[in-house]
Amino acid sequence: MSTTQMTSKEAIELEDKYGAHNYHPLPVVLHRGEGVYVWDIERKQYFDFLSAYSAVNQGHCHPRIVRAMTDQAQQLTLTSRAFYNSRLGEFEQYITDYFKFDKFLPMNSGAEAVETAVKIARKYGYEKNGIPEDQAIIVVAKDNFHGRTTTIVSFSNDEDARKSFGPYTPGFEAIDYNDSKALEAAVSKPNVAAFLVEPIQGEAGVNTPSDDYIRNAKAVCDKYNVLFIADEIQTGIARTGALLAVCGKCSCQGHCERQEATYTRPSMLILGKALSGGAYPISGVLADDDIMNVIKPGQHGSTFGGNPIAAAVGTAALEVVKHEKLAQNARKLGDLFRSEMSKLAEESDLVTLVRGRGLLNAVIINDSQESETAWSICLQLKDAGLLAKPTHGNIIRFAPPLVITEKQMMQCVGIIRDTILNYKA
Ligand SMILES: *Cc1c(COP(=O)(O)O)cnc(C)c1O
Repeated sequence: MSTTQMTSKEAIELEDKYGAHNYHPLPVVLHRGEGVYVWDIERKQYFDFLSAYSAVNQGHCHPRIVRAMTDQAQQLTLTSRAFYNSRLGEFEQYITDYFKFDKFLPMNSGAEAVETAVKIARKYGYEKNGIPEDQAIIVVAKDNFHGRTTTIVSFSNDEDARKSFGPYTPGFEAIDYNDSKALEAAVSKPNVAAFLVEPIQGEAGVNTPSDDYIRNAKAVCDKYNVLFIADEIQTGIARTGALLAVCGKCSCQGHCERQEATYTRPSMLILGKALSGGAYPISGVLADDDIMNVIKPGQHGSTFGGNPIAAAVGTAALEVVKHEKLAQNARKLGDLFRSEMSKLAEESDLVTLVRGRGLLNAVIINDSQESETAWSICLQLKDAGLLAKPTHGNIIRFAPPLVITEKQMMQCVGIIRDTILNYKA
């Protein structure tokens, strides 16, 4: 294990002084990770209940993923797409078979993959659906989180994300989330190219829609010939107890036939985060030929997108999800977590509600949006050996790596219970 001479306090001071202040981290300096555990510089052990915003679904430093990465790093790292590389085709074959789409377009960060989907949707609208040039509208949901580019923040309604970053990219219309009527009103207007949506809004506080919302939304989009784009960067790859959140309550792990009644198949599927198990930035868009073929050489790209390390790591990360049956584990332990937290909500005035699906859950703290209560609970959880982070004021997201065992989960439930029941402001 590597060591550092630095203390946590010194590491924090360095970041404060030399780094841009674009985050507000919990004051813990992590130095090592394995499975569900991370350790700080002073070797205190924690359960990681954030999983790097669901990038580390496969657990920290999964040996199979690390091996794929280090083996490939010694062979060939980057060619650019000016040439073919010996790993990309294999990865594309694997991922398209895995998610049952014709084609994959690889990028790096989640935001880039969202941008890619937006570009494809517009081009498809103009070339295949006769939308007049420069008139395409993409409908989005309020309280969305799709990333941080200038175009993406243009259709955010989070003032922190958006304010003073204009002028904003036109061509987006925001409607209420979980409102099928508002969706139909929006997509029935002319020139709508696509509806872009998160099947569960993670950053908004694990905002979980009604069971039939996604299926209805797809049906409404189909009716008006509008593309349905699912941003599963956070919800996908087993996090919600199914391979994809659009699988809903279907138990097929996303591997069912396309006609499966409860599986909503998006026109475009956006993935990122856990596509590498947290080892490497890998994202991309999946779609069928009819849609993907609107992109021709020279019209979109990325120097690092689809590089050989990404291809090796992405394949290994998806294999781990299947081999270790992480969707089943997320489903089972998610049910356990929510039932334990519901009990806690009955015992404690501090906890109002638990919501979520699989191992993407949030506990709503009984205090105002502006209060510091959720933050100070997270500080006390940290002292007790569990790392979680508030989203949007009074909501705490709990999203451990999906490799967590039942015994570890019960230990974590104990930590959360003790912290909440003994909480003093
Ligand atoms: C994290 C996230 C993104 C952005 O991904 P980055 O890799 O941070 O650019 C987009 N959409 C959703 C739903 C996310 O959770």
